Amino acid sequence: MDKYQESQKNKLFKTSHHDPYCLQRIEGSAVCSQCGAVYQAGNWTWSRPENTVVHSAQEMTCPACRRIHDNMPAGTLTLSGSFLQKHRNEIIHLMEHTEEKEKTDHALERIIKLTDSAGELIVTTTGIHLASRLGHALESAFKGKSDYRYSENEYGVSIHWTRNK
Ligand SMILES: [Zn+2]
Repeated sequence: MDKYQESQKNKLFKTSHHDPYCLQRIEGSAVCSQCGAVYQAGNWTWSRPENTVVHSAQEMTCPACRRIHDNMPAGTLTLSGSFLQKHRNEIIHLMEHTEEKEKTDHALERIIKLTDSAGELIVTTTGIHLASRLGHALESAFKGKSDYRYSENEYGVSIHWTRNK
């Protein structure tokens, strides 16, 4: 391993894996008053209200809804290249479909919004897993090139995907 690889490896170790939005201690169970996600046994899920535990749940706002409210994405994908202009709808459809699948099992992984900016499409997410899953979905469906940068000092990932022609 050369010096460069070593410094990259150290960077990975320094990366924070703790989402500051998930640090709040929650006693017992809770239900998000915004989206209906349920907190039980340490996890946010989509358990339905029929669930008996939820009966005594406290109302609060889940970490994903707080990120959406604050517009504080954990993941940012920037899509660029001429392929994007020609296949925009297919690309958006793939990302929405990927979000649906991810969100079913991981209630806190959601797309915040899609923004067009100077020929690029910026997609922000509430979780780093969804962002990297979107990056991989783009690569496997449309090829292209992507680059993943995990933030050193905070919980976050920035992904660039591009394809020309
Ligand atoms: Zn919520």
